Amino acid sequence: MRYYTLRHNETAHVACSKDGKKAYILRAYMTMNVMLLKGHDGTIPPLSEEVDLEDPDVRILSPMPHPRQDVICLGINYRDHAKEAKEFDPGAFSKEMEDPIFFSKRVNYSQGTGSVIPAHADICDSLDYETELGVIIGKEACNVKAEDALEYIFGYTIVNDVSARNLQTRHKQWYFGKSLDGFTPMGPCIVSRDEFDGIPKLDLKTYVNGELRQSSNTGNLITDIPRIIEVLSSGMTLEPGTVIATGTPSGVGMGMDPPTFLNKGDEVICEIEGIGRLVNTVQ
Ligand code: MG
Repeated sequence: MRYYTLRHNETAHVACSKDGKKAYILRAYMTMNVMLLKGHDGTIPPLSEEVDLEDPDVRILSPMPHPRQDVICLGINYRDHAKEAKEFDPGAFSKEMEDPIFFSKRVNYSQGTGSVIPAHADICDSLDYETELGVIIGKEACNVKAEDALEYIFGYTIVNDVSARNLQTRHKQWYFGKSLDGFTPMGPCIVSRDEFDGIPKLDLKTYVNGELRQSSNTGNLITDIPRIIEVLSSGMTLEPGTVIATGTPSGVGMGMDPPTFLNKGDEVICEIEGIGRLVNTVQ
């Protein structure tokens, strides 16, 4: 099942869809956060209102416009990206150990596909994209073993971990440079885990103004999804609705020769097989 937050008749609704074309409004849940706390068994309630996702009166929002907590991110979790990041700034991106790097993103508001990414040009001179598979936790996870991790996953979405490289590298921690308003577009929907066979190995691509920049597969993660959940939950309970951005492969702007950052008017498409496309324009 595919789960959306959409605006219809001036109101935001949670909706589900089998085919990404027709969706059914789930009136039992005010928000996606509530749905994830209560759970959903994947059935469409009788008499639920049907909407056409391509109807111009229906606006697809981020599936989680207001995550309850900061988004948990993996840093340097694809080997090819580790290399390009170190070449850009050895001081900021050297990584010698095999244990995962975690950091977080503040998300006051996550925008969905079709929305703008603010350039923050007054403080950012190096705006960059990072397409990532987002894991949505669906069940309280505490001391979960890797082999049991799948059952704690509700589903998957696409996250663009937008980054201000100058702020990311100027400050000792990455938090501020990753947390500016509008730096966490997500969408277009959350696809439930039962749509995939086990832990999904999905092609991931990024296009900027139609040019292919990133192309990899989520099977190339250094720390895979079960291990991420095992490590995090070993001392930190993961609540339903937790979003984990699993890291990005090579091909970001800072890895180009010369480094090439986003400008106003640029269109960024983050695409993951089986989930869809997250399309945003820099403004
Ligand atoms: Mg990232």
